[in-house]
Amino acid sequence: MRNKTDTTTPRGATTAQPRDFRATRFYAALTRALAPRGLSPEDLCDLDDAAARRLLAEYGAMFLAVEGVRLPAVLVFASEAEVERFQREARPRAATIKGVTFELQGAALDALLAAREEALSAGLELTPRDGAEAARRTYADTLRLWDSRVRPALEHWAGERRVEPAEAERLQKLAPDEQLAEVLRLEERGVFFSKDFSKSILHSVAAPGASQHLAMLAFDVAEFTDARVRETMARRGWFQTVLSDLPHFTFLGVREKDLPDLGLRRVAGCGQTFWVPDLE
Ligand SMILES: [Zn+2]
Repeated sequence: MRNKTDTTTPRGATTAQPRDFRATRFYAALTRALAPRGLSPEDLCDLDDAAARRLLAEYGAMFLAVEGVRLPAVLVFASEAEVERFQREARPRAATIKGVTFELQGAALDALLAAREEALSAGLELTPRDGAEAARRTYADTLRLWDSRVRPALEHWAGERRVEPAEAERLQKLAPDEQLAEVLRLEERGVFFSKDFSKSILHSVAAPGASQHLAMLAFDVAEFTDARVRETMARRGWFQTVLSDLPHFTFLGVREKDLPDLGLRRVAGCGQTFWVPDLE
């Protein structure tokens, strides 16, 4: 869930929040999708918490994946130990493409390799972006990537006097969940934390513990600018579900035509098609 260039979103783009999350099409579909797993949306996170609702709106499509995959029972992993336990129980498998070895859940890996075969037979390439981090990541990876955006942004905005230096210093020391809430509050007033300070940090890196890469159901594709490669991924159940994270694909394992019934809505942006939670 990383976009090194960060040059790709309409300036200031954020995901609008509905007044009542429980009245949205996405909430209804998520409730249906989780029921066979013995889970409800309320098990994933505290829906009365604005930051949690925001994370569910940004990354929640993953929880609509086919029953064959394992889903986290929480929206945000709280520690490395939690992530390690989930990843062990989900029994990832490894593959190597062009010398890069990476890991995904079995169903996701099979679909990815099938997409790659299809791409190769059409004369295209389909390879991981930025090495092994294209697929499974650790909790520490998500912390490091988060900090790589927060630290420079706090320095930048303190320099611009949009955040008082003492306040910037206080924010830098907060625990990840407290820091997330404060960052989202600042972004509401246009103090953005992406790499070029033009858009939400959540469209650039995931919140610590919340990345789809931790669930091993995400893959960053180096050839994401090629529409034929994106279509090949979609035919194998891999869709772009995080708005404006251009190289990032999520394994849902369903057909594209079924996505609206799953509570997702099609959004065009930056020349690509995203399927994001329908918060109407
Ligand atoms: Zn990604």
